[in-house]
Amino acid sequence: MRVAALVLAAGRGERLGHELPKAFVPLAGRALLLRALEALAAVPELEWLVPVVAEGDLPRLRALAEELAAIPNLSGRLAAPVAGGALRQDSVRAGLAALPPGVELVAVHDAARPLVRPAAVAAVIAVARREGAAILAVPVRDTIKRVRAGRVLETPERSECWAAQTPQVFRTGLLREALEKAAADGFCGTDDAQLVERLGVAVRVVEGDPGNLKVTDPEDLALAEGWLARRPG
Ligand code: C5P
Repeated sequence: MRVAALVLAAGRGERLGHELPKAFVPLAGRALLLRALEALAAVPELEWLVPVVAEGDLPRLRALAEELAAIPNLSGRLAAPVAGGALRQDSVRAGLAALPPGVELVAVHDAARPLVRPAAVAAVIAVARREGAAILAVPVRDTIKRVRAGRVLETPERSECWAAQTPQVFRTGLLREALEKAAADGFCGTDDAQLVERLGVAVRVVEGDPGNLKVTDPEDLALAEGWLARRPG
């Protein structure tokens, strides 16, 4: 089964409050997008890596050509960058449209998760290969409340609550169908699995690690640097 990764980097990342778009903000001297690409390039199962960036950031990515060329095992697998859209799912759609024919499995990964471990990526791909849809996630530590207008609506059973991460890996046809249904229904999700769940398809969960954090707020950059510094090598 041929596998490609879409590396989503077309969000602005307003909450980070940085002058650069989030994917280009350096983490220990290196853009988040480059770190995400480096982690994915260490996964031999991935045949193509497709960066999805905002149209206006295409020159920014081109300016990183030298750094991209220095990433081990990326050469020959890095596809031409694709211009993303206004919503995350528009960016996924644009990335899917750019895949060569014959890609049977797609891993969707946030460039904002630069610390994903290659072994975790390989594990979630292996499950999706068998089952059609799989995501990385971690069990939550806090008790989760559903809240509206400052009032608790509900407390879901904590042992059943997991925080979804990326990569999220799907059979290509399934993801296409999920995006089509979301568009037809005017539904906007916060991850890709949610769109696939709406087809009534079971999504398998592979336990990830909390180090695969999504850089969102400025404090996350410091946290991510801490995780990075503790890594061997
Ligand atoms: O906004 P959020 O943090 O959920 O974004 C998750 C990932 O999706 C980020 O890596 C971001 O660049 C990407 N994204 C995108 N296109 C959008 C919005 C977000 O590629 N329109």
